[in-house]
Amino acid sequence: MDNLENLKVLASLIFPDVAENETVEYLETVFPKRNISENAKVTRMAPSPTGSMHIGNLYGALADERIAHTSANDGVFYLRIEDTDEKREVPGAVEKIIKYLGAFGIEFDEGASEDGDLGAYGPYRQRQRAKIYHIVAKKLLLEGRAYPCFCTEDDLKKIHDEQEAAKENFGYYGKWALHRDMPVEEAIEKIKNGEKFVLRFKSLGNPEKKIDFKDSIQGNLSFPENDQDFVLLKSDGIPTYHFAHVVDDHFMRTTDVVRGEEWLSTLPWHVELWRACGFKMPRFCHTAQVMKLDEETGTKRKMSKRKDPECTLGFYFEKGYPAKSVIEYLMTLLNSNYEQWRSANKDASYRDFQFKSSNMGNSGAMFDLAKFNDVSKNIIASMTADEVYENVREWASENDADFYKLLISDENYAKSFFAIGRGGKKPRKDFACWSEVKDFVSYYYDGLFKVEESFPANVPESDRKAILKDYAEVYSPEDDNSAWFEKVKAISEKYGYTSDMKAFKENPEAFKGSVTDVSNIIRVAVTGRNNSPDLCAVMQVLGKDRVLKRITAFA
Ligand code: GLU
Repeated sequence: MDNLENLKVLASLIFPDVAENETVEYLETVFPKRNISENAKVTRMAPSPTGSMHIGNLYGALADERIAHTSANDGVFYLRIEDTDEKREVPGAVEKIIKYLGAFGIEFDEGASEDGDLGAYGPYRQRQRAKIYHIVAKKLLLEGRAYPCFCTEDDLKKIHDEQEAAKENFGYYGKWALHRDMPVEEAIEKIKNGEKFVLRFKSLGNPEKKIDFKDSIQGNLSFPENDQDFVLLKSDGIPTYHFAHVVDDHFMRTTDVVRGEEWLSTLPWHVELWRACGFKMPRFCHTAQVMKLDEETGTKRKMSKRKDPECTLGFYFEKGYPAKSVIEYLMTLLNSNYEQWRSANKDASYRDFQFKSSNMGNSGAMFDLAKFNDVSKNIIASMTADEVYENVREWASENDADFYKLLISDENYAKSFFAIGRGGKKPRKDFACWSEVKDFVSYYYDGLFKVEESFPANVPESDRKAILKDYAEVYSPEDDNSAWFEKVKAISEKYGYTSDMKAFKENPEAFKGSVTDVSNIIRVAVTGRNNSPDLCAVMQVLGKDRVLKRITAFA
């Protein structure tokens, strides 16, 4: 038998599931080029269903989604589930991915969904695509670009040890690739005998030669050609990532593969494999990793699920950060010109920004929790009292049942305290997330109110009591800001606390204190703190009974 006939026998032994007419050409007709406009980009998120969702996933998904949807009206962003490692799969992980991303406003146009698959390029779960991988692998085998390898763990270890001793590169390649040139008859024999094997790629690369590669984020790259005969199909017929992504991104017609820069090291493998399959390579965008400044060492390091709570997406839900804050901050990390655009387009949606992969940094995106909190404070400061109320209520309904009850017991009351200091040129920036709200507004509820801070130390108790007693007598809930202040000033003067701040600053010794001490006495009595939003407004919201009760308690 000639070699091709032998190869055909070998192929039918390895791929009994692939019929004669099931060829790569046939797949090309089943998954034709997409009928989309010239500029439209097709991107995908391709997570393993391990149940863990971290900020890097969201960062990548946002880049994918923006690239697809800013390219053209018919750009496509799809979800592919890379579930080849069954052991790591966690039930419900797909639903979680969709739900979590949906909570951040990131929706897929196509792909795996909660009730099956959506779209014409599926199945979108790799375990259901075995046949498709086998069709492509069969072609590679028949063309001499793949071969079965029967090496055991021990064989591979021996090769590794010998390479170490000989100070040669590790791996399965060239002269070290034991079964690369095994006669086909022998391979047939071994398979017939039930010997276990994997299918390896047969590399024709020469590491002395260089490949030039243009990455949409990293720019022009140059690296040695691959010579590794890496595994395409494992012994159970399941593909490795390297093989699966080539087949999937080709037949799902991805135009832009956006993935983490950890894949740059195996990019030479992928380039050779794409070419060997005869597929046109898509554009590649290798994204920088999300980094942070290590608090202990002061050095830049990769964000870690173990060390950094802000790494997992659950953190943002538990703390109650608005999705808008997270997206806004990630946009500033993703595109270098986003902040500039934002300052010129204050009220625009981030979706109006012209997102470009070429404006993505290639040196690690620094996630700074303090900066993120500032962004979030600004976002919350720009919300209306009604929006704040709705958001806090929703967060509390899932995270703090007691606070939730208080909030819904009197909706208008809550909205009126959320309204204080909102709007205008300099809105208050009191909280970055909803879990910070309860503490901030606790004094509006008698059940939560407590005196947390002390009265001004320079005011003797007798003065303090007299001041509060006098104030209780003149207080009127109808007082506007200036009437309120006039009363406080008058009481201040009566007890020797000047209302002339200029005079006080110049010669503080001449007075017992100033009007600030007096208003702070009222503030501590009413709110329990020496810092609060505009006290007159706070008292108007609290209402006559509460205010009088709290003041007289200390008078
Ligand atoms: N499943 C791969 C991962 O989670 C996907 C990489 C890619 O986007 O191509 O790392």
